[in-house]
Amino acid sequence: MPETVLHRSTPVTLISEDETLFRDTVRQFAEDKIRPHVKHMDEAGVFERSLLDESFQLGLMGIEIPESYGGSGGTFFEAILAVEEFSRVDASAGVIVDVQNTLVNNALIRWGDEVQKKHYLPRMASDTVGAYALSEAASGSDAFALQTRAELLGSEYVLNGRKLWITNAKEAGLFILFATLDPAKGYKGITAFLVENNFPGFTVGKKEDKLGIRASSTCELILEDCRVPKENVLGEPGKGYKIAIETLNEGRIGIGAQMIGVARGAWECAVKYAKERKQFGKSISEFQSIQFQLAQMATEIEAARLLVYNTARMKDAGMNFLKEAAMTKLYTSQVAERVTSLAVEIYGGAGFTKDYPVEKYFRDAKIGKIYEGTSNMQLGTIAKIVLGS
Ligand SMILES: Cc1cc2nc3c(=O)[nH]c(=O)nc-3n(C[C@H](O)[C@H](O)[C@H](O)COP(=O)(O)OP(=O)(O)OC[C@H]3O[C@@H](n4cnc5c(N)ncnc54)[C@H](O)[C@@H]3O)c2cc1C
Repeated sequence: MPETVLHRSTPVTLISEDETLFRDTVRQFAEDKIRPHVKHMDEAGVFERSLLDESFQLGLMGIEIPESYGGSGGTFFEAILAVEEFSRVDASAGVIVDVQNTLVNNALIRWGDEVQKKHYLPRMASDTVGAYALSEAASGSDAFALQTRAELLGSEYVLNGRKLWITNAKEAGLFILFATLDPAKGYKGITAFLVENNFPGFTVGKKEDKLGIRASSTCELILEDCRVPKENVLGEPGKGYKIAIETLNEGRIGIGAQMIGVARGAWECAVKYAKERKQFGKSISEFQSIQFQLAQMATEIEAARLLVYNTARMKDAGMNFLKEAAMTKLYTSQVAERVTSLAVEIYGGAGFTKDYPVEKYFRDAKIGKIYEGTSNMQLGTIAKIVLGS
């Protein structure tokens, strides 16, 4: 672990000049380019391809990829800022950037060998969307009970099985896909593979019609004698469980960033509407009960942001952040649900319609308690650590 240098007066939310410039650029892009598409992307359940292309051009799909591999050479904290700013405008845009940076690129940077990094990282930074395929129909929370099989035949692995709920599947060119070499070995059989969407025997199946983050594709993957070169094992055979556990720990901070972005987007709408809407001859923002609700929401968002930023800084500092990442995801998803729900109420009847943006924030918030480990699973992790078991 690197030596800890304490700057006692530095607040967690104080961001550097470079980080401010980065955040402002992402915010501007989200406002000017993403916002005009949000409503129709939600209705159609499709993400606008041109926004992906522009995200690549801005370097937002390869934030942590070193410059020597064509990436932006940034920090994990910057990736978190990008997810927050995108999600403030659209949680689907937020999760696309999140999966790309905090799961797929992160795993490649950390576990890829030099040949894999040289082959894949420049593509991830320039035009290839990534996806992370762990879950199956019968293994969600119990992820390591997965049934997708991988068998070594000569110079190739042959994969058979089905994956479910895979974010970015429609757009992705590269999948980090987990399969077992031997179900009898339990988690010790699990292996991570780098699977391209054009490998023989690989098909993207049914796309889910969802409550929220509708513009983010979530699909089934079908592997029928899918042939994957032996060199495309990420890390070592049988060590996939370690890759899954450790990348998801980092991913949870990303979901925390998504949740504070969603909460802030809804809160900003609620404040604006409360100032405009008149009842009993004055703006509803003049009623103390509305003011108190907005103050409570702002306080919870700030507390949630402190958790996200601190855990991200812990990750960049090389510290252990397992407990903090679980707490971050647990708490931020609770805050996002409460804040977006109150935002709907502050809009009154209007909030319940699709003419206003808050019902979408409310729908989008719900996923935070489900993916990358449900709230119960986060509580289990936190309990184990704080109770010392
Ligand atoms: C929109 C969306 C996108 C997703 N994206 C991806 C992706 O990109 N890649 C990927 O691999 N997966 C993805 N997932 C899958 C997601 O991670 C799983 O849905 C999640 O882990 C929960 O698994 P499950 O749905 O099978 O629920 P289950 O595991 O069946 O859980 C059902 C309920 O039982 C509870 N429960 C289960 N076990 C326990 C226990 N031991 N103790 C207490 N409570 C328990 C859960 O908390 C939950 O409330 C996505 C899911 C969705 C909905």
